[in-house]
Amino acid sequence: MKGRIGIRVPPETKGLSKKEGIEPDKLAKLLKAGKVVIPSNPIHRKSKPCAIGEGLRVKINANVGTSRDFIDVAEELRKVKVAVKYGADAVMDLSTGGNIREMRKKIIRASEVPVGTVPIYETVCGTSRKRGYVDMTADSLFKTIEQHAKDGVDFMTVHCGVTRKTVGSLRRHKRVTGVVSRGGALLVAWMHENDLENPLYQDYDHLLDLAEEYGFALSLGDGLRPGCVADATDVPQVHELMVLGKLVDRARRAGVQAMVEGPGHVPLNQIEANVKLEKAVCGGAPFYVLGPLVIDVGAGYDHITGAIGGALAAYFGADFLCYVTPSEHLSLPTVEDVRQGVVASRIAAHAADLARGRDALWDRSMSEARRKFDWQRMFELSVDPERAKEYHQRRISHSPEVCSMCGDLCAMKMVDKLLK
Ligand code: SF4
Repeated sequence: MKGRIGIRVPPETKGLSKKEGIEPDKLAKLLKAGKVVIPSNPIHRKSKPCAIGEGLRVKINANVGTSRDFIDVAEELRKVKVAVKYGADAVMDLSTGGNIREMRKKIIRASEVPVGTVPIYETVCGTSRKRGYVDMTADSLFKTIEQHAKDGVDFMTVHCGVTRKTVGSLRRHKRVTGVVSRGGALLVAWMHENDLENPLYQDYDHLLDLAEEYGFALSLGDGLRPGCVADATDVPQVHELMVLGKLVDRARRAGVQAMVEGPGHVPLNQIEANVKLEKAVCGGAPFYVLGPLVIDVGAGYDHITGAIGGALAAYFGADFLCYVTPSEHLSLPTVEDVRQGVVASRIAAHAADLARGRDALWDRSMSEARRKFDWQRMFELSVDPERAKEYHQRRISHSPEVCSMCGDLCAMKMVDKLLK
């Protein structure tokens, strides 16, 4: 490992501190302490960078990318546009089909927000064999990581906590759904086939060197996250988190920004404990939760089950919500699914921000517009203005000032004069 100078403060920090309503020095301090990350590869010029972590607004991520069954570059680029339009603070390219590098480069070029990737997908998919993970080598994996960095990727998911020991925990503790993380599963299978330790863990110093050299942030993946509520907060999940806590510490000492990914599927009553545990074990590192989905039976509506979990997780201190779309567990999302997923996640993030004392003016302004029947203003203030307008206009009231829900029995209108 090279000599370190601590976490660098990127030039975006000043502008972001203004946006977050926090002193630049305080933001820089949180960044240096590893409690905030600003994913910012200097190669990727963004008009909308973001800061994620303690004391800041809750951020959301939208996943896009091809699958092996469905490859449509133009559609994935439309998803990026829609995701950013409806409020995604970051996008992740999870492509596994077609020309993955070309897709990534186009997404980076098209994205105004930070872009994340999971390099192991490309390493494995780049081989011609069906069981491509067998051919993967530590060298091919690190070369892919370096290529992603050179292409301008701002943060990368690396499942460094899937180790021989944590996989041992997985073997000893029965689960309903085994491993549901693609990256986690690829590593478990590779380690089994080759009887070797995970190179991302074994050569973690090399990974830190690359992150430090190119200026990308690590998103320490939860390869053993629970894939159903029955497996939530079990031994393999917590064991992996313990490993990640130590790796966060090493990242900080190496001057590398790191956040930690979390579950997955978690019932409501376990969400607070999950957030508190991550914050304690990982020294306050930003927590990036995937949902979490609070039930397993919401198929077709998992943007809702994810938003319920996301709102609660963020309220208790999670910093970054990965959206879930209605097609979760069912198919590759469409552009419309991306819109619904982002809006649901945006609502969850704002619900938590509001409860944590931020941005109350937004809701207050909406309520004032409602009282004045200022429909245009109400549309403008909605999380999804087009959808709000569409619903209002599809059934117009005979009393045009009010809406067709109550018509001339509009409660606000009836009592308004009395209250004045
Ligand atoms: S008609 Fe009913 S729903 Fe519509 S604005 Fe008035 S009180 Fe609200």
